[in-house]
Amino acid sequence: MINKKKYLYENINYDIIIIGAGPSGISCAIKLKQLSIFFNLKLSICVIEKSKFISSNIISGAIFNTKYLKELLPNWKFKNLLFKNKVKLDLIYYLTRLNYYKIPNIIIPKNLKNKNKYIISLSKFIIWLSKEAKKLNIEIFESIAAKKIVYKNNKVIYIKTNEFNINKYKIPNKNFFCGIKIYFNNLILAEGAKGFLTEKIILKYNLNKNKNSQNYSLGIKELWKIKNKNYNKGLILHTFGWPLNKKIYSGGFLYNMENNIISVGYIISLSYKNPYISPYDEFQKFKLHPLINKFLENGKCISYGARVINLGDLNSIPKLNFNNIIIIGCSAGFLNSSSLKGIHTSIKSGIIAAEYIIYKKINKKKKINNIFKKTWLYKELYNAKNHKIFMIKGFYLGILLLIINKIFYNKKNNLKYKKYDYKMINLSNFENKIKYKKYNNINTFSKSSSLIFSNLKYNDNQPSHLKFKNKKYLNINYNLYNKIEERYCPANVYEYINKNLQINFQNCLHCKTCSIKDPKQNIKWTPCEGGNGPNYLNM
Ligand SMILES: Cc1cc2nc3c(=O)[nH]c(=O)nc-3n(C[C@H](O)[C@H](O)[C@H](O)COP(=O)(O)OP(=O)(O)OC[C@H]3O[C@@H](n4cnc5c(N)ncnc54)[C@H](O)[C@@H]3O)c2cc1C
Ligand code: SF4
Repeated sequence: MINKKKYLYENINYDIIIIGAGPSGISCAIKLKQLSIFFNLKLSICVIEKSKFISSNIISGAIFNTKYLKELLPNWKFKNLLFKNKVKLDLIYYLTRLNYYKIPNIIIPKNLKNKNKYIISLSKFIIWLSKEAKKLNIEIFESIAAKKIVYKNNKVIYIKTNEFNINKYKIPNKNFFCGIKIYFNNLILAEGAKGFLTEKIILKYNLNKNKNSQNYSLGIKELWKIKNKNYNKGLILHTFGWPLNKKIYSGGFLYNMENNIISVGYIISLSYKNPYISPYDEFQKFKLHPLINKFLENGKCISYGARVINLGDLNSIPKLNFNNIIIIGCSAGFLNSSSLKGIHTSIKSGIIAAEYIIYKKINKKKKINNIFKKTWLYKELYNAKNHKIFMIKGFYLGILLLIINKIFYNKKNNLKYKKYDYKMINLSNFENKIKYKKYNNINTFSKSSSLIFSNLKYNDNQPSHLKFKNKKYLNINYNLYNKIEERYCPANVYEYINKNLQINFQNCLHCKTCSIKDPKQNIKWTPCEGGNGPNYLNM
């Protein structure tokens, strides 16, 4: 054990600290700086990011709704050379095992239409956005994970970042660095879905009291370089139906990006019941479908990753601020769960937080919730309300309930929903075993082969960042759920050798599924050494 008193912490102090350099965090920083210049205020702003390089932990689809980007960057159209690839053809298919049926455009709801939105790499966009932030003298620290919240008299005093160079027995190595204490006037949590510190703050201050549960889906995605003859720039496909049965809210996507690259992925709600389901293997199956397979023919997988996505709605968003702490982006659940779009909503939530802070500084006191309620974001999420609650019940029933709800209540009703994903799982004895096909190493691969494309980098000699709350539950997972963690984890982190669970933490993609789906909530994902984890490119 470390004698922490022996080591000196570095202390830093900023007016505003933002945890997470995703779309919400960086947008918030930019808006804060713009407003502080406008009102002639002096503000020091710092963004902390756990990934080795800006955006290297970020994964998205992504179709970007740029309609409101001018609220952050009025001249983005003239400045930006990134968005060249508009959606030209937007198709939705219902899949059976061997066939596919195009859904007529006329019956597709408006919120699912994407024509004229842009097909982007979120990573590239974030790199570009962070350069805009740096031009405004915003400091962005990479490779630093915010790990601990320190309270005094029920108030957060400072944040502590991760240690470096501590070995797996928790003994400091020669270059041990015990982390930074970060003091601030305002703390903004922008950690993305299932944020580590965010969860602690929500729990500590009971910010989700009387709110619906936050639920999640897991998105698994690959980038492929495909042959010219299979490539169709600007074409995007969304699918539902096969491979999962209609009772599980799930679907696939395939986006033709630029330069013969396609983004292909599968999204599955983590409310599934059968512990034999392996989201990773369902994705492998999806790629074998004739509609998808024809794009991949003679192509090459170049990137692989996974990340959970919020599936809650307006009524799952927690109280947004407490004392001097504000939660934004997917950390708070600002994602339109009916269209599964969260980039534009995260950006707007960052703008709202910035406006709230600046209003306070210029003595125009407004409640953050009141600012939020006057925006297009509130309207958009209001219209998407109850969607998840119905769709989780299965595809056909979900659609029927959505239509009934629209006709009779026009979405004015607030349905209660408090079923957490881990509670939905059944014991393995009550479910059918699923046998997945062997990988063909052409377009389906084992998890360990796929991980090569995630560019994982870990210091092997550090304590595992995956902690178990209670070791006795390990037997329960083995006996009652038939080693469920081997299947829900898309990265081969959990491996039973005989009856013993081995943790290959160096495979972890930071997707957070284990902390959501584990039946006994026994696994705690914690930030590891800053800069460790996947190093995604263009995801
Ligand atoms: C497979 C997939 C497909 C998607 N497709 C689309 C789409 O087509 N269109 C769309 O609009 N949205 C899509 N989304 C959703 C969209 O990507 C998210 O809504 C959006 O990225 C959320 O932004 P954010 O800033 O809240 O969080 P994130 O983008 O997750 O960024 C959070 C950042 O915080 C960092 N961080 C987290 N914790 C810490 C910590 N403790 N210390 C330091 N740093 C930390 C992370 O490394 C990360 O860089 C998709 C998501 C997935 C997973
Ligand atoms: S260990 Fe958990 S967070 Fe890491 S990849 Fe597996 S499921 Fe995701």
